[in-house]
Amino acid sequence: MSLARPRLGVGLSHRLLVRQRSTAPHSALITYRSISSSRCSHAAPLDRHGSLEGPVRIRSPAATGTLTAQDEPDKHTDSYKDGPSAIDKAVHLFFFTEILRGMWIVMENFFRPPYTIMYPYEKGPLSPRFRGEHALRRYPSGEERCIACKLCEAICPAQAITIESEARQDGSRRTTKYDIDMTKCIYCGFCQEACPVDAIVETQNQEFSTETREELLYNKAKLLANGDRVEAEIAANLHSDHVYR
Ligand code: SF4
Ligand code: SF4
Repeated sequence: MSLARPRLGVGLSHRLLVRQRSTAPHSALITYRSISSSRCSHAAPLDRHGSLEGPVRIRSPAATGTLTAQDEPDKHTDSYKDGPSAIDKAVHLFFFTEILRGMWIVMENFFRPPYTIMYPYEKGPLSPRFRGEHALRRYPSGEERCIACKLCEAICPAQAITIESEARQDGSRRTTKYDIDMTKCIYCGFCQEACPVDAIVETQNQEFSTETREELLYNKAKLLANGDRVEAEIAANLHSDHVYR
């Protein structure tokens, strides 16, 4: 090792060489500073009045230097005072009551009906407010409800809705294009809330995954077909929720 040490300095700058040679005194200085800064609270306080540094002494009301139960008799509590007695503990220990109680809970849950369901063969209940796949509704006469006011398009935070409209010969206004990009939709339900005639709604269908992205670009025909398929369910959900709307 003594032969290898001088070679370590080859190629290093003068400053680094000086630092390398002075490693021992430097370490000693660091050690001294560490020891002097870790002075314990029992050590004599330094006379540094008015300074932010140095140890801070906390005086107890009895001037004992340390806060004890005598200094704060009201706050003194016996942590074992209100707990189970030693006899109680011994009885529980001797008769294994904790183990028996644990086994009883296991037996209770063994005979309970399971909480899990075998999805997709079994399905859990859904709230009438559940926001799933979109649909456009018609009146019982077959006329589409949408009046092309474009409130849903304006309020959609994801800008997923695109509407084009024109006036019919009877003077009514209807959409010629109603597209929803379901890949953009965040299912916030704002479109449903904004619609004045309950035309655009979100159904309870959540199983509409596709293999291609294009299949999630819904047009008006697709949305009207969705509405025709589950109109009874949509009407029942809206009716059950109407008191809150
Ligand atoms: S649910 Fe929200 S994000 Fe989706 S189309 Fe309606 S307003 Fe837009
Ligand atoms: S779906 Fe409703 S909110 Fe949207 S354009 Fe039609 S009527 Fe207006």
